[in-house]
Amino acid sequence: MTTAQAITTLGLVHIYRSEGQDVAALSGVDLSVGAGEVVGLLGPSGSGKSTLLALLGGLFRPSAGKIFVGEHELSALTPSQLDAFQARETSLMLQGAQRNLIPYLTVRENVEFAQVEARRLGADVIGVGRGLELVGATEFADAKLGRLSQGQLQMAALAVAMAPSPGVLLADEPTSALDRVARERIVDTLMRVNEDQGTTVVVVTHDPEVADRLPRTVTIRDGRIGGEGRSGKEYAVVTADGFIPIPVHIRDQLPPGTLLRIEPDEAGYRIVPEVIGQDPGSGPVD
Ligand code: ADP
Ligand code: MG
Repeated sequence: MTTAQAITTLGLVHIYRSEGQDVAALSGVDLSVGAGEVVGLLGPSGSGKSTLLALLGGLFRPSAGKIFVGEHELSALTPSQLDAFQARETSLMLQGAQRNLIPYLTVRENVEFAQVEARRLGADVIGVGRGLELVGATEFADAKLGRLSQGQLQMAALAVAMAPSPGVLLADEPTSALDRVARERIVDTLMRVNEDQGTTVVVVTHDPEVADRLPRTVTIRDGRIGGEGRSGKEYAVVTADGFIPIPVHIRDQLPPGTLLRIEPDEAGYRIVPEVIGQDPGSGPVD
């Protein structure tokens, strides 16, 4: 079994260059995930979640910034080292279960194929039977994909992703196409994978019910970290360069240009908004 890996990103920037217009999908993401942690990535559509996940999986290179997964710094890897890294250390489950599966094979054949591939690239695979059992796919292992429900397809995709026994599992919206029961089952399975294999799990979701079940959530907003949730409490996160995002729900009360005074108090520091120069006596004179 591969050892769980920690993930750190430093000043991660990603710009998609297309004709006419460049899109900044990530604008400086500093994220640390501990080895063996389960973290949900939340945020509105277009905020950069899938881009972040793909970068963590080494699918493409960031425009700027660094990514550390375990002992690897991804930009330092040669193409063949990157192949080995992707095969052995991380599994990226793309959004849409079918994109991770070969359509004309059964679930078992899909897992077998993934394991043969993983072994060829030097991964420690878990046995096919064990992999199917881990995600609860034994019952429908010999069915062709066309006969399966969306929930079962997602389980199959998870069994494929776990084939190389990765240190990091990256799952992009694994519950988005599912009804409530199937959604619960996927979350249970991700937690079980984490407990059983120790795998670090990063899961993208925009479903509040899924987010509620995760011990830690990180909200992405406009390509940056907009906040964190831990055990039901919400936090703003100071960036590596010292900026603090204002939580969305109080943004209206703190418009751009608001002065915040940071002053010491008994608990450490508190942040006090100040209104300066707006009392009737000090307005501009004409
Ligand atoms: P999310 O997963 O949070 O919905 P994405 O990471 O998919 O966000 O996208 C972030 C931003 O990057 C969006 O503005 C999106 O339109 C843009 N984007 C994503 N993929 C591409 C691409 N291949 N080419 C150009 N722009 C892209
Ligand atoms: Mg996405």
